[in-house]
Amino acid sequence: MLELYDVVIIGGGPAGLTAGIYSSRARSKTLLLEDFALPAQATTTSQIENYPGFPEGISGLDLTERFKKQAKEFGVEFKQAKVKNVEFGPNYRGSTSIIKIEAENETYNSLSLIIASGARPKELGITGEKEFRGKGVSYCATCDAPFFKDKEIIVVGGGDTAVEEALFLTKFAKRITLLHRRDKLRATKILQERLFSEQKISVVWDSVPKEILGREKVEAVRVINLKAEKERTLSCSGVFIFAGLLPNTDFVKGIVELDKKGYIVVDSRMKTSTEGIFACGDCRSTILRQVITACGDAAFAAFSAQQYVEQIL
Ligand code: NAP
Repeated sequence: MLELYDVVIIGGGPAGLTAGIYSSRARSKTLLLEDFALPAQATTTSQIENYPGFPEGISGLDLTERFKKQAKEFGVEFKQAKVKNVEFGPNYRGSTSIIKIEAENETYNSLSLIIASGARPKELGITGEKEFRGKGVSYCATCDAPFFKDKEIIVVGGGDTAVEEALFLTKFAKRITLLHRRDKLRATKILQERLFSEQKISVVWDSVPKEILGREKVEAVRVINLKAEKERTLSCSGVFIFAGLLPNTDFVKGIVELDKKGYIVVDSRMKTSTEGIFACGDCRSTILRQVITACGDAAFAAFSAQQYVEQIL
């Protein structure tokens, strides 16, 4: 007989861990499933300085570790699992079904489900990107920056991640070229100010990488200026790509409503289109993806799941 949880949470980033803290404090029987192959975006962020309470900033990994410690202390059970599918099992009472969460080697039964599966970096799909992944192509400055000490680096993107991580990379690299496809950055103004005053960084506007070149490792990038329609080749040892995110929601396609980009649609209480299933954090449809919004979402999701379970018991 499989154990029955009050709530299963998918995802071990700030959203999942906060949902865990709230659920376990409500004395709900809580299981959190984390997939180590899909690290939370926060854990790959070098420095977080807009989460209140840390005026000097804190690394994303340290902040997430603190959340995890807190969740464990309140009694959340943790398991490593790659969730493949979500289904509805036998009736629990009346017409209410048990939710079956199917992972690679195990199935978990729960009365409610909170999806906090986050998002992953988007690939550009250009020639050389896959071939040189781990050989100069990276999507995580915190993980790979030390390999590029005194080297030339190209950073792709104009959002918060690209600018923040380009600034972090200045601690290691000799020179950084930030390639952006438009003539205006998307990043928060304070980050832009820092970027423009950093001697090691130059910005190449209206440009995108077309091909990553090299023999064993990255040696250069073929870049096209979209306005002038001119190509040139820039030498570099590393290409850091921060071109936005893709939601980790494939396993719930057809189970809950997704928006055009694949993010989960929720109401203001984090309820999805399906009874008993809630979503929070980067995987949900929203205009702002921050640690603080993920935590706020998660508090609502946990509260809503708790109310739902109380109502069906
Ligand atoms: P983002 O905001 O979606 O920015 C992606 C950037 O990549 C944009 O500048 C975009 O250009 C560019 N881009 C997209 N596709 C491209 C392509 N095929 N070729 C070249 N360039 C391409 O993604 P993000 O920076 O990863 O941020 C994701 C979310 O996390 C955002 O909500 C962000 O605010 C948040 N975040 C917050 C913080 C913070 O608060 N400290 C830090 C990191 C991330 P366009 O501008 O032309 O679209």
